[in-house]
Amino acid sequence: MAKYTGPSCKICRREGMPLLLKGQRCLTEKCALRKKKYPPGPQKKRRTKLSEYGVQLREKQKIRKTYGVLEKQFRLVFQEANRMKGVTGENMLSLLERRLDNVVYRMGLASSRSMARQLIQHGHIMVNGTRVDIASFRVKEGAVISLEEKFADNVSVSEAIKLSKAISSKPEWLEVDYDNKKGSVTRLPKREDIQMSFNEQLVVELYSK
Ligand code: SF4
Repeated sequence: MAKYTGPSCKICRREGMPLLLKGQRCLTEKCALRKKKYPPGPQKKRRTKLSEYGVQLREKQKIRKTYGVLEKQFRLVFQEANRMKGVTGENMLSLLERRLDNVVYRMGLASSRSMARQLIQHGHIMVNGTRVDIASFRVKEGAVISLEEKFADNVSVSEAIKLSKAISSKPEWLEVDYDNKKGSVTRLPKREDIQMSFNEQLVVELYSK
């Protein structure tokens, strides 16, 4: 499946919930969902009720698009989660949460996952002192993630950090040193660390058909 390159806000409107894809803008009055609480495209007079399959599919899309993962990658993550011990849906979210682009975003070095992906792809992110340019790279417990030294004064990163400092809830599984623009994974993320209102069980049901 090709990568979606259209407006991010349309994705939120389609899924009917803020997926926080645009950084600071998502927290302001400018959020498209505040003004347009209906899905994109021609408006139907009556909303059609989704089938059971439709509900499961939408939930899967919500999670997949939040993390910016392509369909094939998403299915591979699910299959891996299914092979692990424990609850498959929770394993799946934990694996997605450990993606390097998500970790850089959660640390506050980027204001959105797409900005984090850009930082990674342009070689500005180091893991344990080694440059990693793969957004899907999975961090392990104890990993130290830092910004490349020569990029430390970048304006976009500084703005992202400012925004992150202003947000009271910080991920408990990460320790962040804003001054040195680095952080570490103190433990692996659990379901309760992911505060988005996903119903991951619906994805398990969808893929179990
Ligand atoms: Fe979604 Fe952010 Fe756009 Fe709001 S501003 S619709 S949360 S991407």
